[in-house]
Amino acid sequence: MTVEFISVGTEILLGNIVNTNAAYLSEKCAGLGLSCYHQSVVGDNEKRLEDALHLALSRSDIVILGGGLGPTKDDLTKEVTAKVFGKELYEDARTRARIEDYFARVHNRNITANNWKQAMVPEGAVVVDNDNGTAPGLILEENDKTAILLPGPPNELKPMFESKIAPYLNGLQPEGIYSKMVKICSMGESRVETVITDLLETQTNPTLAPYAKTGEVHLRVTARAKSEEEADALMKPMMDELFHRFGDKIYTTEEDVTLEDAVVELLKGKKMTVTTAESCTAGLLAGRIMNVAGASEVYEEGYITYANRAKSKLLGVKEETLEAYGAVSEQTAREMAEGAAKAAGADAALAVTGIAGPGGGTKEKPVGLVYIGCYVKGHTEVKEFHFTGNRAKNRDYAVVRALTFLRE
Ligand code: ATP
Ligand code: MG
Repeated sequence: MTVEFISVGTEILLGNIVNTNAAYLSEKCAGLGLSCYHQSVVGDNEKRLEDALHLALSRSDIVILGGGLGPTKDDLTKEVTAKVFGKELYEDARTRARIEDYFARVHNRNITANNWKQAMVPEGAVVVDNDNGTAPGLILEENDKTAILLPGPPNELKPMFESKIAPYLNGLQPEGIYSKMVKICSMGESRVETVITDLLETQTNPTLAPYAKTGEVHLRVTARAKSEEEADALMKPMMDELFHRFGDKIYTTEEDVTLEDAVVELLKGKKMTVTTAESCTAGLLAGRIMNVAGASEVYEEGYITYANRAKSKLLGVKEETLEAYGAVSEQTAREMAEGAAKAAGADAALAVTGIAGPGGGTKEKPVGLVYIGCYVKGHTEVKEFHFTGNRAKNRDYAVVRALTFLRE
């Protein structure tokens, strides 16, 4: 089955807001095994929205429209969709009661007249309750075509999709969709793709789809099956093959486990503590580790040592080292890691020193040059990296590489 999205809102067209709903829906629908070949953005304009919806319905089985369900005059999605499906609008008593209740609970104020517009629904539509706002979602079906209307605010759209639309979409398909996420670190996207080209080309059930993330590649393995057991059996050869090819570069197969989760889990398992000494990342690495609830079990203290003086004062990096090799050097990264472990009394330490840019680079030490030191129980290793992003990207990559280093 094919699905396509229409994001409605002039503010998206003008670039005032980023179309995060489309990104969210694309990823979710792919996970449900639906094929998405088109998506579009339309302003709050009746004629153009009508045209976009006609076109979408002509080429896709399911059209999801996001936004334009609000109480104001420029919110037109419902009216236009009803027109295209040839349906009248009527006031849905249940929705009216929910809106009343929502206002009493959340706003503690009177409802303005235009809010009742949100209780109007097209005849024959399935009304999907909105637990986080007033505009309900709507599902219209006609002649094998389905339109799904969702409220624009992401904090309303996402929970509604997750709890009500995803199960509905799953029910449209004769077989259920099951998927696993294989997350790979310390390998770039193009290398990962090269390793799995044959699988990508021959895949049918399960399918394999790569997603590049900063410093990581995620592979979604999706199977169509009648039950979870059947899906697991279908996915097993593919999963075995991926483990055979990527080995311990795979840090998890769980959708909601992050790299920092895996690293903290690893340290807990080994009953080890860790500290961080950061120059160019200035706390980003510590922040990532602290994303994990319960990280205090493995992390007590860390250091942001931006200036040379701080590297010497807090970590005991030798002045001769800084003078002879510079702050961005293999030697400094090594002394930072060792000094941090000693100062914090930790079993392991990660140190990051580099040139994030945009300024500060030289011919010998260009922007993007980063040294990462990893100390584990008396043994230190340093790696040199050459990142090619902007300041923010270079810092993000350094953090991912440092976390990855600890797993190696
Ligand atoms: P409301 O009742 O808030 O008017 P609505 O269903 O009419 O909801 P819109 O008016 O289109 O939705 O959008 C409301 C807000 O939701 C926008 O100002 C924006 O912050 C957010 N939003 C809408 N569409 C998107 C999108 N595609 N991606 C990210 N955010 C969005
Ligand atoms: Mg609106």
